[in-house]
Amino acid sequence: MRNTTPAKKPRPAPKVGIVSLGCPKALVDSERILTRLRAEGYEISPSYDGADVVLVNTCGFLDSAKAESLEAIGEAMAENGRVIVTGCMGAEADTIRDAYPDVLAVTGPHQYEAVVEAVHDAVPPAHDPFFDLVPPQGIKLTPRHYAYVKIAEGCNHSCSFCIIPSMRGKLQSRPAHHVLAEAERLVKAGVKELLVISQDTSAYGLDLGYAERSWRGRQVRTRLTELCRELGELDAWIRLHYVYPYPHVDELIPLMAEGKVLPYLDIPFQHASPRVLKAMRRPGNQERVLERIRAWRKICPELALRSTFIVGFPGETEEDFRQLLDWLEAAELDRVGCFKYENVEGAAANHLPNHVPEEVKEERWHRFMQAQQEISARRLQQRVGTMVEVLIDAIDEEGTAHGRTYAEAPEIDGTVHIEEAQGLGPGDMVTALIEDADEYDLWATLLPVS
Ligand code: SF4
Repeated sequence: MRNTTPAKKPRPAPKVGIVSLGCPKALVDSERILTRLRAEGYEISPSYDGADVVLVNTCGFLDSAKAESLEAIGEAMAENGRVIVTGCMGAEADTIRDAYPDVLAVTGPHQYEAVVEAVHDAVPPAHDPFFDLVPPQGIKLTPRHYAYVKIAEGCNHSCSFCIIPSMRGKLQSRPAHHVLAEAERLVKAGVKELLVISQDTSAYGLDLGYAERSWRGRQVRTRLTELCRELGELDAWIRLHYVYPYPHVDELIPLMAEGKVLPYLDIPFQHASPRVLKAMRRPGNQERVLERIRAWRKICPELALRSTFIVGFPGETEEDFRQLLDWLEAAELDRVGCFKYENVEGAAANHLPNHVPEEVKEERWHRFMQAQQEISARRLQQRVGTMVEVLIDAIDEEGTAHGRTYAEAPEIDGTVHIEEAQGLGPGDMVTALIEDADEYDLWATLLPVS
């Protein structure tokens, strides 16, 4: 007679809700926290109602982001009442506790252990490895077909408008083999696009002396070019964000021309006037940068460039602003975001003289956006009539697919719309002909599979 074990009944798992605010880097932190909690047997609650505790992962980059974070904490307190706060704004525990004395715990950015401990205190885990299985790629908050891969934390710069280095510390890179192992796991789990992020992606590995690590029988340096070359061996789109134009960025362009990495660079230029860049404490040779952009485009003509800028920085004169507009016209970037300068508590720029009046910032922002819209529209028109690969993100009720080509990152750039795309689903890769464009989006028709 065989010995049988009675079937084990699962114990009810404690449920954690999460509100994730801020940038993709914060989203990656949320994913890591949830992956760890899920591994311990917690369930993720999609609503406040069902959650035993709610995590609010905050952003504290700008004062407006802090206000939004406080509002989110308030909502979670009102809707659920058992709230743990983490993320960038966690560095300002007093502000949070002044507003919401009953939050269960406040932890700062990257304090994964502390967040998990706070969750344990609030609602102990009911782990049962027999029932609680985590998919090997972890828990993702992005759609299944794309994922952010954070290659480093912190930053060695000290831009005067930014408090990230004081909140997140100096550069700390993840060794190349760790990043590659994560990337490979994600691709095996069905991810089609990996978005490489960090505060300063070009600086990757500097803190580790670009140390070599063993990966698949090869020695790989913990350095951006070498990492990209290895990532390029995976069957996925590799997209690079927050790349500062250090000299070695030139090495990436041939990899883009070869198709190893998407010909897309997100470079936060922030300004073009040497005076303003100096006040921002950023390198200021934008003429040289223009020459490099032209050289990159010669090697890789399809290169798409995205950037962000700040207008109305303290001391910015009309002359500085015009210089910025002229540079923009010369650089012909494909996609651009623009922020009006805001003081951030604790940032050095707050104490600079000659703050720009709000109405001037507003007026410059409109002029900037108008100028860039014309440039973007021109750039997008040049793509009409070309055949492109589109990664589908969503299909709407009318059967129109919405997706992106190599030149559009999710959330921040435009969209490619393809009508009569019934039968397609998120994550599908299709070939389409671009038929029309405005200043943000493209319209395309599906081409038959050959
Ligand atoms: S490079 Fe400048 S803006 Fe970016 S995180 Fe570092 S200090 Fe902040």
